[in-house]
Amino acid sequence: MELTRPIFPEHGNYQCPVPSCSASGFAKLKNYNEHWQRVHVRTSRLYRCLVCPSTTYKLSKARNHTRSFGHRHCCMAV
Ligand SMILES: [Zn+2]
Ligand SMILES: [Zn+2]
Repeated sequence: MELTRPIFPEHGNYQCPVPSCSASGFAKLKNYNEHWQRVHVRTSRLYRCLVCPSTTYKLSKARNHTRSFGHRHCCMAV
């Protein structure tokens, strides 16, 4: 799956956007991706925007959403 990488906050301390997850304090995107893979990559293929509450089950819609905001938004598979 090829998705554009989200713009990651410069100062780190990134918080997991999954509502049921309270994980935070990721200093780097790499750290967060590891958390994502470990904790959230399971069954569903819901794509959730990292910036706004937008969600979709379709990769094409997720890509369009990301693109339509000039890559300031990024939908990632939940
Ligand atoms: Zn999480
Ligand atoms: Zn968005």
